[in-house]
Amino acid sequence: AHQAALAARSKDDLRSPICCILGHVDTGKTKLLDKIRQTNVQEGEAGGITQQIGATYFPVESIRQKTAVINRDGKFEFKVPGLLIIDTPGHESFSNLRSRGSSLCNIAILVVDIMHGLEPQTLESMKLLRDRKTPFIVALNKIDRLYGWKKIENNGFQESLSLQNKAVQNEFKSRLDQTKVAFAEQGFNSELFYENKSMAKYVSLVPTSAHTGEGIPDMLKLIVQLTQERMVGSLMYLSEVQATVLEVKQIEGFGMTIDVILSNGILREGDRIVLCGVEGAIKTNIRALLTPAPLKELRLKSAYVHNKEVKAALGVKISAPGLEGAIAGSRLLVVGPDDDESDLEDEVESDLANLFSRVERSGRGVSVQASTLGSLEALLDFLKDCKIPVANVGIGPVFKRDVMQCGTMLEKAKDYAAMLCFDVKIDKEAQAYADENGIKIFTADIIYHLFDQFNKHMEELTEKKKEESKLLAVFPCVLSTVAVFNKTGPIVIGVDVIDGQLRLNTPIAAVKTNTVTGAKEVVSLGRVTSIERDHKQVPVCKKGQPSVAVKIEMGGHQPTYGRHLEESDQLYSLISRASINCLKEFYRKDVSNDEWQLIVKLKPMFDVA
Ligand code: GDP
Repeated sequence: AHQAALAARSKDDLRSPICCILGHVDTGKTKLLDKIRQTNVQEGEAGGITQQIGATYFPVESIRQKTAVINRDGKFEFKVPGLLIIDTPGHESFSNLRSRGSSLCNIAILVVDIMHGLEPQTLESMKLLRDRKTPFIVALNKIDRLYGWKKIENNGFQESLSLQNKAVQNEFKSRLDQTKVAFAEQGFNSELFYENKSMAKYVSLVPTSAHTGEGIPDMLKLIVQLTQERMVGSLMYLSEVQATVLEVKQIEGFGMTIDVILSNGILREGDRIVLCGVEGAIKTNIRALLTPAPLKELRLKSAYVHNKEVKAALGVKISAPGLEGAIAGSRLLVVGPDDDESDLEDEVESDLANLFSRVERSGRGVSVQASTLGSLEALLDFLKDCKIPVANVGIGPVFKRDVMQCGTMLEKAKDYAAMLCFDVKIDKEAQAYADENGIKIFTADIIYHLFDQFNKHMEELTEKKKEESKLLAVFPCVLSTVAVFNKTGPIVIGVDVIDGQLRLNTPIAAVKTNTVTGAKEVVSLGRVTSIERDHKQVPVCKKGQPSVAVKIEMGGHQPTYGRHLEESDQLYSLISRASINCLKEFYRKDVSNDEWQLIVKLKPMFDVA
């Protein structure tokens, strides 16, 4: 009896897994969702699929019906009560669904366009899934685009494939293989779902079409199977509330509302809740728990139904006073009878504080702005991997004060006077201020596009500085004069490069010893304005290469051969501390080890410390 009671309890207490759909833009995430939501009228599917806030709920009965075509013998057993699929596809909503780093989303579908393979956002999604240790399957979507594909609406994939001609099957096979290789390169072993022997070791690839519905039964079954195999433990129903804010929205008649995914526990009207806001913790009482009115009741006055209480897992809209400034991605806590409200405040604030504390101690770095807690965290993780230092962090739209804060970097570290903004709006005044003051604002909705833009910006800055530094860079050389063609104004001589390399613009000097005082004298000749060999200009002449004719010019009065120096005097490039620093900064790879040693030898001649 005890056993039976236990079994009954565990069955009742299993909650529905929460599933997210991720992938690159245009792979068909929205279309796939639409397709699985579609009620199949001919087969009289009632299904009980309910549209929720930010999510769609599929009771197990509807999934059973949708997978019937590949489960004719009914052997596959469904143990979950249903499936909650998050409606707003993309890594944006996924990264918000987290609690202290772990994911509230239990499983995910990563959508890949079979014709395109892995794309930038696919890789980004994979990184998120890996970081959160979220089990996932891959929908290889748009199989109907394989050339010559013959469709059977809503069919199981295996049967559909077996009915295709050889050419289609071959194209499929080759694209599948390419995909597997691409996944392997990212460190994931993958297998076509019906060849996968271990869902723990291999990611299942399930070919689908959001247009014909083929493969969708397989996809749904796999998702349930993955949940049942990998995570029954974490699907136990808990009375402790686990909830996250997915979106913050102004709704007519309700004011500011939050869309919340409740992954565990119960929420009741009137509950005291605590969540994170831009100005600190928000404490308020739930005024209304809203879910969408069923379609047939749309003639009712409100698009929403009021609920006295709601039970996990589901998506619900909460209306409450004082929700302005609520942050998407924030946890939502309920103040229980034994809780100290201020403890809960500290807890939600720590989520934001943790992110804000991840700035450089030196105070030198870029500014970062993101739309939600989740995306800010993902962005900071990414920038850390790329070794881009961050000095300021913000959430929400970019205003002038944010740009001004970033502008303090113009003094401290000019290169970092840049804002990397992910999925946020830039206020007009803020943009104008940035433009006027030379602060760069980069915006993107793919994290690593921001990185690309910023890197490009850094390269441009380096290139510009390199350009500006051209006159400052002095490559080391030692020359011996083999002929004097013109003694002065300008000096034109034939030289051999006996050490280092001679480049255009190099300042040249002889070092004489005063015959009377014995003191060292530097005779500066000016800069090299032409290097010729066989009457052709050459940009550089290196040690050991044939002699060249060089012209050396000077702004003022130039020394003269025969008076201030002799043909027998060795000539040197005139180096300085600044010129050496410049080489180190911009031309390190253009200077050989021998040349660095030559610099060391030349230093005392020109009294460089
Ligand atoms: P999302 O950006 O990932 O949500 O992609 P959408 O669902 O908006 O789809 C992008 C485009 O691809 C739309 O034009 C869809 O009609 C098309 N599409 C999506 N799925 C399929 C599919 O399975 N087959 C074909 N042929 N086109 C598809």
